[in-house]
Amino acid sequence: MASVEKRDYYEVLGVERGASIDDIKKAYRKLALKYHPDKNPGNAQAEEHFKEAAEAYGVLSDEEKRARYDRYGHQGMSGMGGFDPSQFSDFGDILGDLFGFGDFFGGGRRRSNRPARGNDLRYDLQIEFEEAVFGKEVSLDIPRTIVCETCTGSGAKPGTSPVTCTGCGGRGQVRYSQGFFAVARTCPQCGGAGKVIKEPCVSCSGAGRLRETKTISVKIPAGVDDGSRLRVAGEGEAGWNGGPPGDLYVFISVKEHAKFQRRDYDIHSEHPVSFTQAALGAEVKIDTIDGRETLKVPPGTQPNQVFRLRSKGVQFLDGSGRGDHYVHVVVKIPASLTDEQRRLLEQLAAMEGEHPPERGVLDKVKEFFQ
Ligand SMILES: [Zn+2]
Ligand SMILES: [Zn+2]
Repeated sequence: MASVEKRDYYEVLGVERGASIDDIKKAYRKLALKYHPDKNPGNAQAEEHFKEAAEAYGVLSDEEKRARYDRYGHQGMSGMGGFDPSQFSDFGDILGDLFGFGDFFGGGRRRSNRPARGNDLRYDLQIEFEEAVFGKEVSLDIPRTIVCETCTGSGAKPGTSPVTCTGCGGRGQVRYSQGFFAVARTCPQCGGAGKVIKEPCVSCSGAGRLRETKTISVKIPAGVDDGSRLRVAGEGEAGWNGGPPGDLYVFISVKEHAKFQRRDYDIHSEHPVSFTQAALGAEVKIDTIDGRETLKVPPGTQPNQVFRLRSKGVQFLDGSGRGDHYVHVVVKIPASLTDEQRRLLEQLAAMEGEHPPERGVLDKVKEFFQ
C-alpha cells in the first residue's frame, strides 16, 4: 500500500471504535454505494475513497484482524502480515457480496474454501536483566483463535458434514451479466465456501473456530538481549480450512540494572576505591552476575582504569562461551579528613615538595589539598 499516512479505519467508515459488525457493514455499504466506480466513472478520488472504505471494512469485519488493528493500529496490519493485499483474499468476496465486483483489486482470487495459514501473533514481554543473562522459562497467557475440536473446524454438527451448495454447485461463485461484462460474484447462498452447513456445530455455532486463552510455556534462552524476538512456531492463530496455524512472536525488552550495563555479551560496572587503595594497591570485592569476585587493584591504579574479569559476562546465545566483565575503577577522594589523616597527608605533601613524583595519583591528591 502507499506510504502516505493512513486514516484510522473507524474514521474512514465513520463508526465508533466499539461499533457492532452490523453497524460496520451498514456504514461500509453506504460508502461503497456512494463511491462505487460505476456511479463515479473516471473519478479517481471516488475510487480512492472506495478502496479505502473497502480496506477498512476488510479489516474491521474480520474478528482477528480487527483485534490486531485495535491493538497495534496500521503498523500491526503491515508488519505482522495483517493487511497485505496479496494475502487479502477476502477482498473479492466482500465486494463480490455487494456488487459482483470480484476483480476490482486486480486479483479477484477467491480462497474462501482453500487452506490458508493463520495469522501471526505478537506478545511483548519485559524481563529482568538477570533473566536475560541466565535465561528463564516463562508461562504466557495468549488469547487466540483455535480450531473447534468438536467439529474439527468444519462448523458442522458431529456426524453431519457440510453439503455442496446448490446455488453454485460447489464452485463458490456464480456468473451473471452486468452491462457489457460477465461478472463472477460470490455465491450468496454459501458465501463463497461452496458448501452449506445444514446442522451447525453447537460448540462454535458453525464458525469452526473458537477464541481461547492458552497458557504457553516459552523458554527464554540465556543470552537474549533487549530487542530480541523469539518465534514460537505454530502458536499463532488457527489456520483456515485445515491450513497451518500462524506463529507467535515474543518481543523481549530487558529492564535496566542498577549496577550492571550490558554491551553485547560483556558486562560493565563501576567500582569505587579509595585514593590510598589506588596508590598502594588492594584486593577489592566486585559484584558480578555470578556473585562476588576478588579483583586485585595494583599499586598506582589510575582513575577510570578498566580491569577485565575474563568470562564473567553474559553467555553467548549459542552456548559457546561467555563475554567478559569490565570493572571501571572510580577513585574516591575523601570529602573530609580527621586531624590524624590531615597530618599524615601534609607530611606526604611536604615530601613531594622535595621530590616531585612523576605524573601519578599523588598529583591529584596534592592538587586537591592545595
Ligand atoms: Zn465446531
Ligand atoms: Zn454456493
